[in-house]
Amino acid sequence: MANPMADDMRRFKSSDEKNPFEAMSERFDRAAQLLGLDPDLYAVMRVPSRELKVYIPVRMDSGHIEVFEGFRVQHNFARGPAKGGIRYAPDVTLDEVKALSAWMTWKCAVVNVPFGGAKGGVICNPIQMSQGELERLTRRYTAELFDFIGPDRDVPAPDMNTNEQTMAWIMDTYSMHKGYTVNAVVTGKPIALGGSLGRREATGRGVLFCVNEAVKRFNLTPEKTSVVVQGSGNVGGIGAQLMYEVGYKVTAISDVGGGIYNSNGLNIPQVLSYLQANKTLEGYKEAEQVSNKELLEIECDVLAPCATENQITSENADRIKCKILAEGANGPTTPKADKILHDKGIFVIPDILANAGGVTVSYFEWVQDRMGYFWREDEVNQRLEEKMVASFIELSNLAELHNVDTRTAAYMLAIDRVAFDTKMRGIYA
Ligand code: NAD
Repeated sequence: MANPMADDMRRFKSSDEKNPFEAMSERFDRAAQLLGLDPDLYAVMRVPSRELKVYIPVRMDSGHIEVFEGFRVQHNFARGPAKGGIRYAPDVTLDEVKALSAWMTWKCAVVNVPFGGAKGGVICNPIQMSQGELERLTRRYTAELFDFIGPDRDVPAPDMNTNEQTMAWIMDTYSMHKGYTVNAVVTGKPIALGGSLGRREATGRGVLFCVNEAVKRFNLTPEKTSVVVQGSGNVGGIGAQLMYEVGYKVTAISDVGGGIYNSNGLNIPQVLSYLQANKTLEGYKEAEQVSNKELLEIECDVLAPCATENQITSENADRIKCKILAEGANGPTTPKADKILHDKGIFVIPDILANAGGVTVSYFEWVQDRMGYFWREDEVNQRLEEKMVASFIELSNLAELHNVDTRTAAYMLAIDRVAFDTKMRGIYA
């Protein structure tokens, strides 16, 4: 099978277990091979459609101009407009954005929403920037991308260090250039500007729906299931809260500074209020302090890494003691760790399914914007549950049918869908 990126792959393979694009490519290759993917489709699907690099001049508060580097990678359009978040971070790289854009393609295909994948990034340090500087950066970045984004082309959303406000600025800038209001150009907007009810909680809720399905396979009930969550932000915090509300025993949770553990279960609403008030979990009384490293190794039924990538590697995978791994974060497990977890019999709910609740409700937001008619929150949540449960079942059946691990099954499901559509459309070559 032709492999146009073989040199790149070899460059990373020996040295860098944690390179996200390599992790994505390795899993893509395995699934493509098992599917017997046509070499022409393989060559087209393995690389992004378009990589944009832009230089963004911004007048800083001090009066001088600083030029920032930004990216937007549009990985695939076979099934519809590209879709994916924008992250602002000092260390964001094109390679990372490329991997994330591909994950978006596979994620949208796993939950069968009619989008391709994209991702954006701007190298900046948002913590040191004022709101005015961030607004000017966002508006100029949007202007640079103007010809490449839009409801039918590419629909950005929030990611690390971007939020509803960032989306409102993008929507406004895009609309000013168009001459009329286009709220479907982004998702994750404020409700007042065409955002969807339930979007903020959607990723955590999607994790809950997947965990519900997985625990049934182990004949467990929420009350009998202990859960450890890494991260307490949009995914981890909300996921833990929703699991607590339906009766799961959440025994540990963390943020970047470390975590807390109580084998009898934590009162999650109280923990999250404490975190909000103190900006740290340190000093929380009714629990032991643990490091993030220790937290991952706590014995539990469900481990939900919901913080960042590369948390479970070949270094610690054999010490992971859960029955179910629910990957709320993108890329928390390396390919080397996958094999170790599989040999230990751990049931993995792979990221491209477990955290797909966010993009699913983003799709609902885009649909509502285009209809100009908005759904009740319970309708949004019910449609989300239907999609997540159906995708979970499809993926589990595929894993059983082909006798492969669930991550490989997720890639197979996604690649097969994208390949089918690409083949039907034909390759314009
Ligand atoms: P967030 O910024 O709201 O929360 C991140 C949490 O992780 C915080 O509690 C933070 O303190 C903690 N954290 C950060 N770095 C850490 C580290 N090195 N070690 C341990 N903890 C650390 O972010 P989020 O939106 O919850 O996203 C978390 C993950 O989920 C990311 O991988 C993101 O790409 C993925 N994701 C998010 C969404 C979404 O809708 N928010 C959707 C899909 C995937």
